[in-house]
Amino acid sequence: NLLVIGSSNTDMVVQVDHFPKPGETLLGGDFFMNPGGKGANQAVAAVRLGGKVAFIGKVGKDIFGKETLENLLREGINIDGISQDEVHPSGVAQITVDKNGENCIVVASGANMALGAGDMEKNSKLIHQAEIILLQLEIPMDTVSLVVKIGNEAGKKVILNPAPAQALDDEVYAGLFAITPNESETTLLSRIQVKDEPSAAKAASFFHEKGVKVVVITLGAKGAYLSAGEYKGIVPAPKVHAVDTTAAGDTFNGALAVGISKGISLREAVEFANRAAAYSVTKKGAQSSVPRLSEIE
Ligand code: ADP
Repeated sequence: NLLVIGSSNTDMVVQVDHFPKPGETLLGGDFFMNPGGKGANQAVAAVRLGGKVAFIGKVGKDIFGKETLENLLREGINIDGISQDEVHPSGVAQITVDKNGENCIVVASGANMALGAGDMEKNSKLIHQAEIILLQLEIPMDTVSLVVKIGNEAGKKVILNPAPAQALDDEVYAGLFAITPNESETTLLSRIQVKDEPSAAKAASFFHEKGVKVVVITLGAKGAYLSAGEYKGIVPAPKVHAVDTTAAGDTFNGALAVGISKGISLREAVEFANRAAAYSVTKKGAQSSVPRLSEIE
């Protein structure tokens, strides 16, 4: 049983020729809407890749929240832990993409930032049923700290994808089974610039010294650096033609959690995550690019 506690958003995307300057009104391309949010993306990845997944999160009492619930339910995720906030609107991300594929994103977190201690208490049954808890940093840090503490005390494996990167307390590190930063998140947290295997090993030592058991640093097209008792080194990703790297990290994390929940070795779990994430970069969009198990086997 895998439990994702995190954010859900609706991505609102417009293609532009160039980014507008302050005060400028721009006519863009056709608008399109996509389900997103790191928590929801990772939950969708996990369920499509064969996991049994529950989600704890918060949406607003609006059309976007309703769509989010329907979407996650359709995917086969247990949504009993998602509540509708009376005050805050659902999370929304306004995304503009220019002709070079660069993006500018503004996230209005809304209800995601209202996910708190009361919600964890209400859903303590879901938390206790889980074997693995997967977290990101698009919900309040106090909630993340609380979940790490509860999860750890109950003997759960807590995996933190520290994205978007923020400084973490020592108690959070000490309660983690695994941490999964990308290169820039690793640099922000450890102050070590990751560029090759030796620097990744140094950054991994930083996390281990804080008490994290398993360190997985994702390295884009290169794959991921795994550091755990049994294995230290780069696990390469399959070579693919990259089209859109949106949600590569989310696919990786959802897949990694599934691998760990199935009890395969960590090295095999990282290989599986690389395979799923590499597949996702060959397709456009966030959840639309996440593969099903049959597609990567
Ligand atoms: P994020 O998307 O969070 O910045 P990364 O860029 O490190 O994280 O990518 C996450 C994972 O996605 C990598 O570990 C790898 O498995 C896969 N991946 C990303 N880019 C590529 C690529 N160009 N080719 C193959 N796999 C990729």
